[in-house]
Amino acid sequence: MAKKQFKAESKRLLEMMINSIYTQREIFLRELISNASDAIDKIYYKALTDDQLVFNKDDYFIKITPNKADRTLTITDTGIGMTKEELENNLGVIAKSGSLAFKNEIEAKDGHNIIGQFGVGFYSAFMVADVVTVTSRALGSDEAYQWESKGADGYTITPAEKDTVGTEIVLKIKPNTEEDQYDEFLEEYRLRAIIKKYSDFIRYPIKMDVKTQRPKEGADNEFVEVQEEQTLNSMVPIWRKNKGELTDADYENFYNEKRYGFDKPLKHIHVKADGAVVYNAILFIPEHTPFDYYTKEYEKGLELYSNGVLIMEKCGDLLPDYFSFVKGMVDSEDLSLNISREMLQHDRQLTLIAKNIKNKIKSALQSMLKDEREKYEKFYQSFGRGLKFGVYNEYGMHKDDLQDLLLFTSSKEKKLVTLDEYVSRMPEDQKYIYYAAGDSIDRLEKLPQTEMVLDKGYEILYFTDDVDEFAIKMLMKYKEKEFKSVSSGDLGIESDADKKETEAEENDNKELFTAMEGILAGKVKSVKASKRLKSHPVCLSAEGEVSIEMEKILKAMPNGQDVKADKVLEINTGHEVFQALKAHKDDQDKLALYTNLLYNQALLIEGLPIADPVEFTNDICKIMV
Ligand code: ADP
Repeated sequence: MAKKQFKAESKRLLEMMINSIYTQREIFLRELISNASDAIDKIYYKALTDDQLVFNKDDYFIKITPNKADRTLTITDTGIGMTKEELENNLGVIAKSGSLAFKNEIEAKDGHNIIGQFGVGFYSAFMVADVVTVTSRALGSDEAYQWESKGADGYTITPAEKDTVGTEIVLKIKPNTEEDQYDEFLEEYRLRAIIKKYSDFIRYPIKMDVKTQRPKEGADNEFVEVQEEQTLNSMVPIWRKNKGELTDADYENFYNEKRYGFDKPLKHIHVKADGAVVYNAILFIPEHTPFDYYTKEYEKGLELYSNGVLIMEKCGDLLPDYFSFVKGMVDSEDLSLNISREMLQHDRQLTLIAKNIKNKIKSALQSMLKDEREKYEKFYQSFGRGLKFGVYNEYGMHKDDLQDLLLFTSSKEKKLVTLDEYVSRMPEDQKYIYYAAGDSIDRLEKLPQTEMVLDKGYEILYFTDDVDEFAIKMLMKYKEKEFKSVSSGDLGIESDADKKETEAEENDNKELFTAMEGILAGKVKSVKASKRLKSHPVCLSAEGEVSIEMEKILKAMPNGQDVKADKVLEINTGHEVFQALKAHKDDQDKLALYTNLLYNQALLIEGLPIADPVEFTNDICKIMV
């Protein structure tokens, strides 16, 4: 039988599994049991819509059989099984777990991160086994096939015998080495403990033949050892239990077992609502951003159960978009079992639950922000951008829910602050909330426009996310304080004396400014004297609604819109460069040369492209010789 090769990515992953230094090898069992439980779920789903199929709960179970003599551990399920093609496609390549775009090799060597990012499922069997043999018969087929692999060198698929539908996985447990004891995975007590730890809430019985002592018939105080089949998991769904009975570890296990994520959740919210709406829910705030979170592929939603029975795997209507990072499940008593997606959207009960859930998440985040700041900042690193999109989307409809959850880096100590923190420590004479928008804090700190605001002792919020300024435009104000970009025309801090002086400068240089406006026609709206500049000769500011930063972002969007900011070239009339410019005001060519140079410099400072870089460098050459 010809050996088939694994696809390149799968092969690499397998090699890592085999040589894994990952300490929690025991999770292989959780992964295989989860797969088995999913396979039974699939039959159950089919039965919901297929009248021919009757789902008789007692027929569905998972069985674990250790065999010390053969050194094998067998995991059997009565699930939907796999056809020959499915064996090939599901086990020969890495399934939907995502593509293995490793950030770096070092990370890849540490199995932990791989499991953390993708959850490697089936392949984890190779952490404990030399040979893995999967025999499966798919529902509706009378043929069975066997898939076998000794690891990275490939696998075979051959016809096999199997009387019942389902899958049997035999692991040939590795021999012990000096460092590692693999025997433990053949011990009844260890298997029992692992199952209790990770798979207690699996909804189907996980059975094992165990040896127990039974009183001997007819004899007092004498016992015989008997073999009997026991169910090892309690099967009571965690959400039905009282919060008091559950530990953090229980919630974490549930999160991992359910594959909500492979990280450790930052927080769980256990809801038992019995007011206007009656439902139980367990919600999680993950720590890490899922790799596809900011892509179109990411699908938000919670699992929806009706009275303990799963009716939908991802019910998107239960979560607003801005809380799409939340994972978990909702169980409600009065939802119909085979309700369609369309019907659910109009279900009053569900709408109420969704609203209730939104408020629970919001207050959980608020209390995390208040009492566990470090944790909240971690959360914010992962999902803050989504919250800001939430403020911006739907014309700012959700801004009241979200504004107090926002954080921005402040010029003060470069720490994250809330808007409330910013406003509450504003000096009395400060009228506005100042911000500077650009692509990095480093760059923003050097922006000439910030000088005057910082000199006044005011704090500046640094907006480095594309969405920041758009979100703020939706907010408009926070606690009656308007937001103001340090690049906007009027900063509101110029003293009356300054204003008078600027006006005088403008009158004195009217002719010159008009000439410069002529030279820069179509590029800037006006040329003005500026008092905000200290050490720099020029800068650009924007009048009106569209800022320079917004112009950049809109342009960079996939279907880029060419919306232009109304730009103003501000000139530092106190700078010696201005004096030089003035000296040439009657020399047309020189004036054009200097004006273009200044304009292009201002563009560079703003991080905007220069229309004609060759001309710009030629201009510099002209003044050098
Ligand atoms: P994941 O479960 O994340 O998709 P796995 O590598 O664990 O990744 O499994 C790959 C696929 O193989 C599963 O999605 C499923 O279709 C199939 N599979 C694995 N185990 C079983 C099983 N016991 N019964 C039926 N199908 C299974």
